[in-house]
Amino acid sequence: MNVMKNFLQSFLLVELLKGMGVTGRHLFARKITIQYPEERTPYSPRFRGLHALRRYPNGEERCIACKLCEAVCPALAITIESEQRADGTRRTTRYDIDLTKCIYCGFCEEACPVDSIVETDVIDYHGESRGDLYYTKERLLAVGDKYEMQIAAMKAADAKFR
Ligand code: SF4
Ligand code: SF4
Repeated sequence: MNVMKNFLQSFLLVELLKGMGVTGRHLFARKITIQYPEERTPYSPRFRGLHALRRYPNGEERCIACKLCEAVCPALAITIESEQRADGTRRTTRYDIDLTKCIYCGFCEEACPVDSIVETDVIDYHGESRGDLYYTKERLLAVGDKYEMQIAAMKAADAKFR
């Protein structure tokens, strides 16, 4: 009996028709794929991507070299050196993040008292050698300068939940 059933199913292309039925059902359904990178799915304001160092609107670095981010980093990915300026303020002379060590926990951002170190929603970055993922102060500030509007919008969207 089973042999006859299998023969008829094969002869009448039942499986093929079933498959075409599934294709037909999805042909006019709402599409769930997007054309990345031109299109992106919505990201949470708390998304933890590429790091950035921010400045105040007058161009001054926010970072006051308190080293809280360095102390809290569980991966020991942050290295900071600092010195006092002539006006008595303290600023970093070196601020490096080794992204090959970073686990994107967000502790550095949480610890920062002046919203200086942040994690952006930028995910489109890569390195072809280990050094490419070693972000120096200059590179982190450049990321911050480039994405400041996005960063500020993310902070504003999340502000009422903090
Ligand atoms: S996200 Fe976490 S692991 Fe990465 S640098 Fe910040 S504190 Fe360290
Ligand atoms: S980034 Fe923030 S937490 Fe880290 S040293 Fe600068 S001010 Fe302190």
